[in-house]
Amino acid sequence: MTTIGFIGLGIMGGPMAANLVRAGHTVLGYDLGQARVDQLVAAGGRAAADAADAATADVIITMLPDSPDVEAVALGEGGVLEHAKPGALYIDMSTVRPETARRLAHAAAVKGVRTLDAPVSGGEPGAIEGRLSIMVGGLEGDFEEARPLFEVLGATVVLVGPAGAGQTVKAANQLVVGGTYALVAEALVLLEASGLDGKTGLDVLAGGLAGSRILELKRESMAERRFAPGFRIDLHHKDMGIAVAAARDAEVALPMTGLVAQLVAAARSQGHGALDHSALLKVIENLSGR
Ligand code: NAD
Repeated sequence: MTTIGFIGLGIMGGPMAANLVRAGHTVLGYDLGQARVDQLVAAGGRAAADAADAATADVIITMLPDSPDVEAVALGEGGVLEHAKPGALYIDMSTVRPETARRLAHAAAVKGVRTLDAPVSGGEPGAIEGRLSIMVGGLEGDFEEARPLFEVLGATVVLVGPAGAGQTVKAANQLVVGGTYALVAEALVLLEASGLDGKTGLDVLAGGLAGSRILELKRESMAERRFAPGFRIDLHHKDMGIAVAAARDAEVALPMTGLVAQLVAAARSQGHGALDHSALLKVIENLSGR
């Protein structure tokens, strides 16, 4: 059994850390919010005094909002790399820029700390049920060592390439998710503006070639305008920025990604940043004066 320092116990990190406890690991959790730490302790975990304390474990996992958060916790004073033992394995499971993942890998290597970037897809239900899809960048030996932990957290676990590759695959995931939400929203607006029942129409779409996980899981809540997060528009805005930057770095043109990035930006500037990303529907409705 492994001692794991887990930093960032939010919507995703909280249930992921609890699943690791349930699998028999010792989890030292830390979050800026004390209530999050208390929840992990109630689930059988231990409270770390701070990030430095969590970083003394054999395996350190971070699940934080954005690239600057991960850079501060990993590279900053009192952070993971300052306190990790040589030979420790540091796994960042947040969604951040591929560039950030590569920077962490280089800085860690100098200290003799091994790293993996391992962002996830599957949302809060996937985190709770241990059924996430985990896309991993790094070295094969480190991946194999971490595999038993990943298999507690996820149903699909794949090493996709070297450091940063997990984040590039995640950027591809997020542009597909954003684009799918935009089109499901357009379908719903068309159905309802034509006097039809949106939910019934989406039920049929879900069973045919247009079907997707998003239609499967979210058609009802979208038709009923329930937008409790889940995955916040603010975070999807961050992810569309990562996808647009990745496209620039790879020197490719991704016109749909650019458009979806602007729609997500509009959702945010219209004040919906704290709602679930399915609230992209509000922007599509707004464009048609509905
Ligand atoms: P969240 O805001 O619910 O959780 C982040 C947690 O990190 C919070 O509890 C916050 O207090 C904590 N935190 C922030 N800075 C900290 C610091 N310096 N030290 C300690 N704790 C700190 O976010 P989330 O929805 O759990 O997302 C986390 C990451 O997972 C993001 O990168 C997101 O893009 C990604 N992600 C989220 C989902 C989802 O459906 N929510 C799905 C896949 C991936």
